[in-house]
Amino acid sequence: MSDTIFGKIIRREIPATIVYEDEDILGFKDIAPQAPVHVLFIPKHEAIPTLDDARPEHAQLLGRLMLAAAEYARREGLARDGYRVVMNCREHAGQTVFHVHLHLLAGAPLGRFGS
Ligand code: 5GP
Repeated sequence: MSDTIFGKIIRREIPATIVYEDEDILGFKDIAPQAPVHVLFIPKHEAIPTLDDARPEHAQLLGRLMLAAAEYARREGLARDGYRVVMNCREHAGQTVFHVHLHLLAGAPLGRFGS
């Protein structure tokens, strides 16, 4: 399993505010939030380092990450006003933790992205 900080969160070796969990996915608050709501969704049993390492056999798991974020947003009443999901891949995107994860950002109008 993952040797990253997220692996430690999955194994409950370090604390995190867990807000979503199902059989395959864990969702927890980002330690340095970039929006009023900033939650990270990660696979629990597969430590794919980056999106570039994903293969066709990971398609269902990656889809489940998206659906977990959408379910959380609906449950928390974030879906009506809207939200953003982001996955950073490697250096130019600023990826810092090499265990694939989806950011959910919400709770206020978000600036445009890409710069
Ligand atoms: P990346 O830049 O790799 O897409 O996103 C990694 C995210 O993980 C960052 O937003 C960062 O704030 C968050 N993060 C890093 N270390 C920890 C930690 O120990 N706990 C939590 N909850 N989030 C973390």
